[in-house]
Amino acid sequence: MVQKKVIIDLEKINGSLADGCAACGRKFLLGETAVLAIGSWEGGPRYIHESEAVFDSNISQYFEKKYYPLRLK
Ligand SMILES: [Zn+2]
Repeated sequence: MVQKKVIIDLEKINGSLADGCAACGRKFLLGETAVLAIGSWEGGPRYIHESEAVFDSNISQYFEKKYYPLRLK
């Protein structure tokens, strides 16, 4: 089961989230919240900062904020 929302800890910084945020490219910091979101990048959902995501409660899915208005085009 993939977690949609995670708190960044050392294991994640050095492991699965070492590449940083897919939305802004910044590395994650300890204690930040990341959410699994669909965005303008290639492929499936990736982790981004929670502040850069919007949650669509209709389908229980996070989207990158700037991508959200474009997703149906
Ligand atoms: Zn970010």
